[in-house]
Amino acid sequence: MKIFISADIEGVAGATDITETDKSHADYAVYSEQMTAEVAAACEGALSAGATEIVIKDAHWTGRNILASRLPRQARLIRGWTQDPFSMMAGLDEHFSAALMIGYHSRAGSDASPLAHTITGRVTYARINGRYASEFLINAYTAGWRGVPVVFLSGDDGVCQDAASFLPDITIVATMEGVGGATISIHPDLAVERIRAGVESALKGDIARGRVAMPGHFTVEVRYRGHTLARAASFFPGAHLIEPHTVGFEADDYFEVLRFFMFGISMNSGG
Ligand SMILES: [Zn+2]
Repeated sequence: MKIFISADIEGVAGATDITETDKSHADYAVYSEQMTAEVAAACEGALSAGATEIVIKDAHWTGRNILASRLPRQARLIRGWTQDPFSMMAGLDEHFSAALMIGYHSRAGSDASPLAHTITGRVTYARINGRYASEFLINAYTAGWRGVPVVFLSGDDGVCQDAASFLPDITIVATMEGVGGATISIHPDLAVERIRAGVESALKGDIARGRVAMPGHFTVEVRYRGHTLARAASFFPGAHLIEPHTVGFEADDYFEVLRFFMFGISMNSGG
C-alpha cells in the first residue's frame, strides 16, 4: 500500500501568526518541529495500517519545512516546488492507494483561523462550482483527477468542517479552533497522538469511501484583493473578467483548472 501525504503548517497545533510559519523568523522553529511531528505521526499510523511506501509533499511556502531525519525510513520527502500545476500535490500519481492531508487550514474568506487563506493572501476568495474553495478542496479534486481517495485530514476546525461537508467519510482531527486573531489549541502531543490513531483507523477502513466524485464541468471564480492582479489573470486563455476584482474560468478537465490556478494565482508560491 502506497500512501501520499500533503503537508502544510498553518493548521498544525497552535500555529497562530504568520511569523510562526516563516523560516526567516525566530518563532518558526517550534512549528516546523510540530509540523514534522504531525507528519511523522501520520507516517507511523500509515505503517501500522500496512503502508509499504510513503511519499510526502512538503507543501508550505518554501516547501522546505519538515525535518527529514525524524521521519520513518519508508518515507520519501519532496522538498521545494516542482513548478507544475500539481503544486501541493506534486508527486501524486494513480499508483497511490490513498492521500492524507496534514496541517491544513481554513480557506480565504473564512473567519475560522487567523491564518485563513487560499493559496496566497492576495485572494479574497475562490469558488469551484459555487463552493468556496479551501486548499483542501482544490487538492481533493487533484486527488480525484488522479483517481486516488482522500481519507484523512488534520488541521484547524474550519478546514475540518469544510472537508467533512465535502467528503462525509473522511477522518478528521481538529488541532485547534480560531477566534478572531487567536487560536484555542489542543496540546501538541495530543494532536500527534490523535493523528497517528486517526490515520491508522482511516487506512484500515474502507478507503474507497474517500473517492472524490469529479464533476463533468468546472466553473471557477477567483476574487483578488487588488484589481491589478485580476486584470493580469483575466488574460489567461479562457479566463475573463467578471468585475474589476473577479476572474472567471471554465473547463471540463480539472487539469485545466489547475493550470489556471498555477498562472492565475501563482499556486507554487503557496500552501
Ligand atoms: Zn502554508
